[in-house]
Amino acid sequence: MFHISPELRQIQSNALCVYDTELTEFINRKVQVLKLQNPEPVYTDDEINEMYEQLKQVNITETLKREQHKQSLKSSATKEAACVVCHKPVSQKVKQYCLSNKNFNGKIYCFDHQKTIPTRKQSV
Ligand SMILES: [Zn+2]
Repeated sequence: MFHISPELRQIQSNALCVYDTELTEFINRKVQVLKLQNPEPVYTDDEINEMYEQLKQVNITETLKREQHKQSLKSSATKEAACVVCHKPVSQKVKQYCLSNKNFNGKIYCFDHQKTIPTRKQSV
């Protein structure tokens, strides 16, 4: 039991004095006031579900992107380049040559398989 002297109950300030016997009533009154001020729920159940679904999807996308980003970092960090046909490792020079060669469509070929790629002039 809180004891609050009668003078304190009349206190004029932003501080609020509530008797414990009045506390439940006070809270109920406050809830009622809030309900009156917001007659409609801020969000419907459907809207909440929709937001939840969207968040879930975004999160999955972020996870995938993170994984892709990690993979791309890994592959560029190791700097390994290999022929797309025989998977034989090639040097950085070969890799750069292949990537700059438009006939290769951004793919990397070893010396042997570079010869098998038709140039644009040949493939009519
Ligand atoms: Zn090859």
